[in-house]
Amino acid sequence: MATTIRNSNLFCTCCGGVFVLTYPAEVDDYSKKLKHFNALHKDCKQTWVEPVADQSKDVNEKALWWFSNGEKGMSSETMYNCLIGNTYFKINHPYDPDDFSRCYKLLETVPEWKLELHKLKPLSKEWNNLIENWDKLTKMYELNVIGTKRALQLAKKAKSFIYISSASVYNPWQPRDFVTENTDFNGKYPNNYGLTKKLAEQAVMKARNNSRIILRPHAVYGPGDLTLLPRIVSLVKMGRIFLAGDGTNLYTPTHIGNLCKAVTCIFDNNPANLRIYNVADEQTISINDMFGSICSALELNAKIVYLPYFLALIAGFGFEFSYRFLGKEKLPPITADLIRQISHNSTLSIGLLKKELGYEQKFSFSQAMSDIKEWVDSIGGISQIVKLNNSWEGKKFTY
Ligand SMILES: [Zn+2]
Repeated sequence: MATTIRNSNLFCTCCGGVFVLTYPAEVDDYSKKLKHFNALHKDCKQTWVEPVADQSKDVNEKALWWFSNGEKGMSSETMYNCLIGNTYFKINHPYDPDDFSRCYKLLETVPEWKLELHKLKPLSKEWNNLIENWDKLTKMYELNVIGTKRALQLAKKAKSFIYISSASVYNPWQPRDFVTENTDFNGKYPNNYGLTKKLAEQAVMKARNNSRIILRPHAVYGPGDLTLLPRIVSLVKMGRIFLAGDGTNLYTPTHIGNLCKAVTCIFDNNPANLRIYNVADEQTISINDMFGSICSALELNAKIVYLPYFLALIAGFGFEFSYRFLGKEKLPPITADLIRQISHNSTLSIGLLKKELGYEQKFSFSQAMSDIKEWVDSIGGISQIVKLNNSWEGKKFTY
């Protein structure tokens, strides 16, 4: 579907067609209009190009251009009002990825304002936090969202487009017991990563590529993993592994080989239109077994210390705060989300993937341990893991 709401009106992102809505709108009347508008624009060709401001103009001219031509929302209007120097205006901050994208577009129109963002800090506690993290949010947004949009454009004629999303799009504060794909998010995400992944999913959903498949893996592990293993290593370095809760809670991580298997299933079945699938190992594993297996496979001598969930959560927030305060780019070894994940059940339902595409787990957690050990040995031992960049080093594996 290429129709959306733009500047309070129905809008077709393919032909640029607009239907002006009058407010307040009655729900019945609104859905009728929406239905007709969707039908009318069902097969539109992509002729509309989002207008861009003439960058040779001065700041005020560009800002005014945005006000009449740009995509506005309540939070981007707050940004506009504050930075253009208005005194009285309604204060709204971005609530969701779409709001953020409109603020982002305003700053693309008036790039000079990127240096003035500190002026938004006193507006509210939320704005203060957002501006503190604005650079990180922007970087992640560009990588996850704009990157995906470009890839969609590039793959327009491809038979199918597979987007590897993440289980981080699920609301972290709701129970995660065999979460299904249609679980409601309520606009809450564990972190900026989850938020931008969700926004990228929305871009995939709105695109008109032939067939689009979104995969949501959960904690991908295996040889070459530079996300989870370095975290464990830095925890072990302290001589102890601190676990929150009692470690009996269950988890469904995703063996990299099983993720490859899911992609193969898509090639084999070629599902039409838009499908979303969770991908994880079929076998659940307790946090105790998970950490225990990794430690014994890598011959790590670390004592497991169990912390009450509440204390661990505070430690997680503490790490996040101090890393932010020190302006560190790296992910802290402990985050509130990690604590929540390792202290509660965090399992995905893979029923849909099995039913529709005949997916079967090919690799188990215990099988992965010897591959991980082999890989770690090939890079010169576990202490080398933290020194690796994003390029592959050491022994290669085929799954
Ligand atoms: Zn249209």
